[in-house]
This record gives sequence, C-alpha cells and structure tokens, in this order.
Amino acid sequence: MPAENSTLANMRTQMDRAKQYTEDVDDNVFTRMKHPERTLTVSLPILRDDGTLEVFEGYRCQFGGARGPYKGGVRYHPSASMEEVIALAGLMASKTALVGLPYGGAKGGVQCNPKELSRDERKRVTRRYTEGIRRMIGPKMDIPAPDMNTGPQEMAWMMDTYSVYEGYTVPEVVTGKPTEIGGTPGRVEATGRGVAIITDRILTHLDRSVENATVAIQGFGNVGSWTARLLAERGAHVVAVSDVSGGVYDPDGLDVVGLAEHVERGETVTSADEGDQISNDELLRLDVDVLVPAAVSHAITADVAADLRADIVVEAANGPTTPAADDVLVERDVPAVPDVLANAGGVIVSYLEWVQNTQEYTWTLAEVNADLERRITDAFDEMLAVYAEEETPDLRTAAYTIAIERNATAHSYRGLFP
Ligand code: NAD
Repeated sequence: MPAENSTLANMRTQMDRAKQYTEDVDDNVFTRMKHPERTLTVSLPILRDDGTLEVFEGYRCQFGGARGPYKGGVRYHPSASMEEVIALAGLMASKTALVGLPYGGAKGGVQCNPKELSRDERKRVTRRYTEGIRRMIGPKMDIPAPDMNTGPQEMAWMMDTYSVYEGYTVPEVVTGKPTEIGGTPGRVEATGRGVAIITDRILTHLDRSVENATVAIQGFGNVGSWTARLLAERGAHVVAVSDVSGGVYDPDGLDVVGLAEHVERGETVTSADEGDQISNDELLRLDVDVLVPAAVSHAITADVAADLRADIVVEAANGPTTPAADDVLVERDVPAVPDVLANAGGVIVSYLEWVQNTQEYTWTLAEVNADLERRITDAFDEMLAVYAEEETPDLRTAAYTIAIERNATAHSYRGLFP
C-alpha cells in the first residue's frame, strides 16, 4: 500500500485495482498508460508590488493523449508540485475517457499562495506562466481550464497572453473564460451542477430521495458552494460546510445562498453569522446522509473512513479518498461515487465551450445544462452497469475499468511509436 499522501501512487493503485476487471487490455499498453507523455517545469520570475523579485515554480503535464487533445485545469496552491500535476493529469485522462469526451488528460499548477498575491501580482504570475507553457498548449494540443484558486479572470489573462503571441484572438485555447469573451453560459457552476445531479442519482438508485437528505460539504469554493446551492434547490438540507478556516453546522440546514454571497465578498465561512462552529475533522465525521469532500486531496484517510458516519460519499474534489480509505469504505459498505465521475461536469461543459469556440457558434444555458445532464447521467448508468456485471468491489473500480478499456483501445489502434 503506498503512502496515503502520494497522489501519484494512489492514482496508479486505483488503475491497478481496475485492470483485473478489464477485457482485452494488453499488459504493455497498460504499462504505457500509467505514465505521462511529458511534464514541463517553468521558473516564473515575478516582480512583487514592493519591487522585490520572487521566482515561483509552475508545471504543466500531459497524460494519455491517445483519444484527443490534452485537457485539464490549472491550480494555484502552496502545495502544487510536479508529482501532483502528473497524478491529476492521469486522473483527467481517465475522467475524459469515462464520460466519453475526445480528450486526453492534463494538469497545470503554480506553487504559490494566491491569498498573499495582489491582483496585479496574480496577473503577472498568470501571464508569465502562460508564456512559459505556451509551446505546449493550443486549441488542438492542450486546453487549460480553471481549478483551485483560478477562475474566469485567470482564464481571460491566459487567453489574452496566448493570443498576443499568435497575433489574433484564440478563445478556444482555454475554457472557463468570462462569457463576454467566449466563455459558455453554465461553466462557472458546471462542476457543482454535475455533483448535484450525481448526488440526486445515487440517492435515487439507493431508493432514497434528495428531498430532505442531509449533506455536509468540505470546501466552499467554486465547486463546494455551487454544489451546496444546487442541492438546496433540489430540496436537500446542507447542514455543514467548511473552508480552510473551519466549518459551520446547523442541523436544520444552512442558508447556503447567504453564505455564498458572504464568501464571494472575500470572507470565510466561519466569519458568517451562521450555525455553530465546527472543525474540518468534525465535519468529515458528521452523521449525515451524504458527505461531499470538495476541497483537497487525501481528506478521507483510512482513519477518517473508519469513523465517518455519512451513508454515502460523493467526491467533488480530485483524489479526496486514499486507496486505504477505499478499502475501509468497502468493508463498511459505504458507497463512494468517485471523482472521475462526480466532478466531471466541469470538463464536460469545458468541452461544450471549446466546441462552441471552434464552431464560432453559441449555445443557450438550457442547451448546455441539458447536454451536461445527459452525458454525466449516461456515464453514471454505465458505471453502475459495470459495477453490477463485473462485481467490482466499489464504484471507483467500475469507473476505472471503463476508462482503462477506452484508453487502451485507442492506444492499441494507434500502436507504439516508433
Ligand atoms: P476553490 O479554490 O474555488 O475552493 C477550494 C475550497 O477549499 C475553498 O473553500 C478553500 O478554503 C477550501 N480549502 C482549501 N484547503 C482546505 C483544507 N485544508 N481544508 C478544508 N478546506 C480547504 O477550488 P475549486 O475549484 O472549488 O476546487 C475544489 C476541488 O474540486 C479541487 O480538488 C479541484 O481539483 C476539484 N475540481 C474543480 C473543478 C472546477 O471546475 N473548478 C472541476 C473538477 C474538480
């Protein structure tokens, strides 16, 4: 068993566990599929507002491009590292295959604390990072998107920097842009919308209802706060949410719309006048119907899995549950909907944005949401079918079984070079 905090080792363990359930996957092809095509590290010399120079490190990894251009987000975080982007790019390659998008996987990151950067400093970091990875990205090569601590503004700066070098506007080089410059309606809330749809589906599948279901959500950024609002719209009681400062809890349900407005003003959830204060550790162990980790990787370790009292886990974050924790959840009969399915709404709507950009044609919000719902529920049904037919130990293994078979088939058709 790998160290619980190695995202890359965890990702490879998850693939290995699924391999035995696959059909006709050549061992050599599978070995190749566990490694990225390329990873770039760039140094970003940035002038701080006080005139001093600081050098940040940035990364971009491309992983599993047999089925199309590489696709994946860019995160700004103090713990961003080359190993982490490789693991997250590998996860993206499985995610795009599982939900049937014509993409491989990618991930990028800059090791920095964005809370300590002014807007101008964030702009300089973003532009310099884009220049650094410019030769790797492009509408037919690798299309970045938002992830932790990046959003429409960073995507606008990336698009502009790339376009300046090309000499014309290239909206389709990134997704998650503001709608005024080629973004699609529905992208900002897409990941949370997908999580809400999947939470509703898994509850229905287990003969329960989203109506009055109690939900605890770790992380109240883009994904967590939209998941909370869209689940509340469906009648769930979001009883606890948290961010890096800690959490708040109200057994009767929180005012998540008010909390989201509070957080959008740059505040923390714990500074709002809502519910009782709890720690992130307490939130993960609350007695609720559904626990949604929507913040960091490795939140659910074997110890947390042994103690948690939720009936169902829906993974909104990437890599929140370790393989050791998966074993405990299987043992305890707690179903966990894996990240590669539950949070795929973001990449699905990113794909729809890219399709609109490349066709120079725009869709309505209703069209985007309907397409998202169709794709993510089809993938959910396929995952359940494999889980039942192959008797995989958990839903993650079923999801990876589908993804590995699709990527391996593409690899086999294309063959090894040279
Ligand atoms: P974000 O930066 O908008 O929000 C992150 C949230 O997590 C914030 O509330 C932050 O305070 C909280 N947080 C950070 N560290 C924490 C800690 N140690 N304990 C508790 N809370 C902590 O990021 P996001 O875009 O919402 O992404 C959240 C997760 O979802 C990440 O794992 C990301 O990879 C994944 N994801 C994001 C998207 C997307 O479209 N943004 C798509 C798929 C997956």
